[in-house]
Amino acid sequence: MPQPSSPDPEMYLAVLSHLPEAVIVVDQAGTPVFCNAAAESLLPGGIAGLGQTSETAAYQLLDCHQQPLATPALPLSQALAGQHLHNQALLLAVGSPAQTRWVAVTTCPYAGPGPGTALLTLRDIGTKHREAKLLTPGLYDARTGLPNRQLLMDRVGHALARAQGHPHGLMALLLIDVNMAELSDSAQAADLANNLPIELGARLRAEVGPQATVARLDGNQFVILLEDMATGSTAIDLAEQVHAAITQPFLPQQVQVDASIGIALGPGNYQNANDWLHDADVALAQIKTCPSQSWQMFDNSLWMQQDLKLQTEIDLRQAIKRGELRLHYQPIVTINNQEICGFEALVRWQHPTRGLLMPADFIHIAETSGLIIPLGGWVLAEACRQMQAWTEQYPAMAAFTVSVNMSSKQFSQPDLVTEIQRILEETGFSAHRLKIEMTEGVLIDHSDSIIAILEQIKAMGIKLLVDDFGTGYSSLSYLHRFPFDCLKIDRSFIENADRDFEKLEILQSVVRLAWNLGLDVVAEGIETPRHHAQLKALRCELGQGYLFSRPLAPDAVEAMITGKIAQALDSATAT
Ligand code: C2E
Ligand code: MG
Ligand code: MG
Repeated sequence: MPQPSSPDPEMYLAVLSHLPEAVIVVDQAGTPVFCNAAAESLLPGGIAGLGQTSETAAYQLLDCHQQPLATPALPLSQALAGQHLHNQALLLAVGSPAQTRWVAVTTCPYAGPGPGTALLTLRDIGTKHREAKLLTPGLYDARTGLPNRQLLMDRVGHALARAQGHPHGLMALLLIDVNMAELSDSAQAADLANNLPIELGARLRAEVGPQATVARLDGNQFVILLEDMATGSTAIDLAEQVHAAITQPFLPQQVQVDASIGIALGPGNYQNANDWLHDADVALAQIKTCPSQSWQMFDNSLWMQQDLKLQTEIDLRQAIKRGELRLHYQPIVTINNQEICGFEALVRWQHPTRGLLMPADFIHIAETSGLIIPLGGWVLAEACRQMQAWTEQYPAMAAFTVSVNMSSKQFSQPDLVTEIQRILEETGFSAHRLKIEMTEGVLIDHSDSIIAILEQIKAMGIKLLVDDFGTGYSSLSYLHRFPFDCLKIDRSFIENADRDFEKLEILQSVVRLAWNLGLDVVAEGIETPRHHAQLKALRCELGQGYLFSRPLAPDAVEAMITGKIAQALDSATAT
């Protein structure tokens, strides 16, 4: 039999040129030896994107979860490594959504005439996710379709490499251990346990954004890799969301499973993916000693200490739950006779290792992380609870007011008014004895939306007060527009008024302005008898400052009140 003659290379390539699918032949360096017309029109900017992920490339290849492929999983890498892909469905994401489509990719060694090492073909399979189930074996978990340990480690490694250029970027690994002990009893449950990983994978994917990687390790362990987080709270928020999602009952049997989540923040000083995952595992092991906890952050002290803000934020979240916040109460007195008429509630944090922290150490962190919402809610509830308890215990305090500070962020809470109402109902504290302090910044941040909220709060009988008056935007026009009851003059005016004539003039005008507008005035930061005398001369009504009292812990308030009651009794019996 005559030997078949090897095809003429030119003829052979002419045939490939006319095929409707994209055909590419590469040499061993990955350089294209041949690309047909279909390949040129399918792959804008050439074949580079088949072998590397670059944000600047004209297209990107994504897996069936629409996640970027790690370098070893890219078709060109697979082809050069001698791997055969058979119709692997990948999403070819191009700048314009109209051009983005699914392609079925096949790779094999090149066996045609002429030079070439590997052959790749890409068949356009449309814009639907039809064949996306054909996953690269070896890099994906067969049951859930999620990246497996190998692909996860590759992505984590890439994330660490990228972080070298951006040392301030914050990332997290969440290692999720699902406890299926409850399922071992019945045959029905065992059946469910079989399908559970698929459902768990879907729940996890639904909780994270498209940028995060969700992977399945062996058995019941899953991992989430989060990159580009704004704060450490993002990881904790996600851990809580994920925990809530996992513990939802699985239908139809209503079976429930539990999960523990170890979190390790990065990039820290991690040199490789294994070390980082190991730390998430250490955090996970710590949960076993504290079963009521659903997540634990790995205490990467050395790194986190460098970032006190991050550490503070993480601790603060726990602080609210563990009851480490305290309120101190600073008396507010009538300037004329120095009688107490109320308190300002000021938050403190009894930190387990750093001692008693002042608001300056943590309020701004609470504001940027969003923790100010639960913190503010706690402050309001605790101030009302404490005041009501004192009212019942000491009739002498029955008319005392309490002022609570509120941050701008709290006014973005859609249910702020209902929450205030609920707290007043639950504690039984009278709205007429509650004052809410806010700085001028609140008005600027929410200029239009806030009027309605303030009107609703005021309609409950609560008094509204501008704090640190004079330090803000020096626009007096807002005083007409907003329903305030009281101005609290900033300490800087009081401090210097005895030396600085201009400050005294301003102080005088503010007091007059307040009178004209029918507003009360409180002066804060009264430290010396001279300050006191000056404010008395200006006929300012209320004052607060170290001269009268520093902020006091609740037991010190009680001691002070008991002392005053005893004094009053003594003078009554003496007369
Ligand atoms: P603020 O509302 O203006 O509170 C008055 C601050 O001045 C308090 O500081 C008080 O201890 C201090 N102070 C009072 N009298 C004198 C004085 O005679 N001399 C001097 N030098 N200082 C005096 P603190 O407790 O450190 O609070 C600082 C700020 O933290 C508060 O300023 C308020 O803006 C914020 N803050 C406190 N508690 C809360 C809270 O529960 N929520 C919010 N959002 N902010 C709070
Ligand atoms: Mg205040
Ligand atoms: Mg103030």
